[in-house]
Amino acid sequence: MSIIATKVKDSIENASWIRRMFEEGAALRQQYGDDKVFDFTLGNPTMEPPAELKLELKRLAESPVPGMHRYMNNAGYDETRAAVAEVIAENCNQPVAASHIVMTCGAGAAMNVTLKAILNAGDEVIILAPYFVEYKFYIDNQGGVPVIVQTDEKFQPDLNAIEKAISLRTRAIVINSPNNPTGVIYPKTALMALGKMLKRKEAEFGRPLTVISDEPYARISFEEPVANIFDCVENSIIVTSHSKDLALPGERIGYLAANPAMGQVELFIQGAVFCNRVLGFVNAPALMQRLITKLQHCSVDVGEYRKKRDRLYTHLTGLGFSMVKPGGGFFLFPKSPLADEMEFIRIAQKYMILLVPGSGFGAPGFFRIAYCVSDDMIERSLGAWDKLANELGLK
Ligand code: PLP
Repeated sequence: MSIIATKVKDSIENASWIRRMFEEGAALRQQYGDDKVFDFTLGNPTMEPPAELKLELKRLAESPVPGMHRYMNNAGYDETRAAVAEVIAENCNQPVAASHIVMTCGAGAAMNVTLKAILNAGDEVIILAPYFVEYKFYIDNQGGVPVIVQTDEKFQPDLNAIEKAISLRTRAIVINSPNNPTGVIYPKTALMALGKMLKRKEAEFGRPLTVISDEPYARISFEEPVANIFDCVENSIIVTSHSKDLALPGERIGYLAANPAMGQVELFIQGAVFCNRVLGFVNAPALMQRLITKLQHCSVDVGEYRKKRDRLYTHLTGLGFSMVKPGGGFFLFPKSPLADEMEFIRIAQKYMILLVPGSGFGAPGFFRIAYCVSDDMIERSLGAWDKLANELGLK
């Protein structure tokens, strides 16, 4: 008998495309050298955090506050929660306060805490394909059942399809804008329409339908600010982190924020605080909470990501690759030139280009490029893309 549970074993075997591609990349790097491999598989920013972070870290180290490494309220420091609330309130018309915020170990923890707080066993959670790979696991962790709904041809939410998927067991819908893996942003009009439809369905079914808006890329937006979900959907919760906007994924600092307009908001926060504790996170890292309190108006240089997007988008579409132009995040999600994207990905590997298949995101026939890599690597990869396009007879 296996030492690990069947479900875990199956998950390891079936659902770890990104890891698998990363491991293949590591093997190629060892064989051919770092500069010969163009690894676009991982959403791990190569950019360093903003300079303000180092200054604040230094200031904290040089003026320690007694007890600064102890446990605190499971929701986090009041000062940090207030700073986070203030920035959210600046971008919406809701009276967001510290009491609506729970600090968490990244967006992943915020999502698990939220799901645990709201789901009864067997409740359904709608996710929109292409989706962030971990959603299915997070929902399963907390006793829910994922229900997958396809987006439209521009990767925008298909309101009719979502409405059709809502059943008496639906409890929540996860949205993610700017999106991983597509980079698309949902316009305010689409979010408003979603809010309106959900309100109607809530009345029809007599139970709450909560939008969980997963927003770790919200500040990485190239054309216009991302619309705040609180003004569009009454029953909504933001889950997010500073993994991407401050380039701190290893530090595990994020939060959840509940819309003050949501019914029973105090009870939800009480539930979330309890779940943060019993899921074993206990609280978000103390030092990181203090650090980000002062950095709520900072982010990495979004212009750098825009430049990378433009360089790759222009070059690849010029070669004949077809894709929706992303408005944010740091991903491109082109259509595979071959019906079987795995075959395409194998051919790309011949030219040392490492990519993740769309199947891993519930979207076969596509592939993901994570361009949070150095400009130098992007430039060096262009010749390899040329050869790949040539072999496939594009254009
Ligand atoms: N949600 C999305 C869409 C992501 O892409 C990621 C990380 O890549 C996460 C959540 C998890 O972020 P965190 O590192 O804050 O847990």
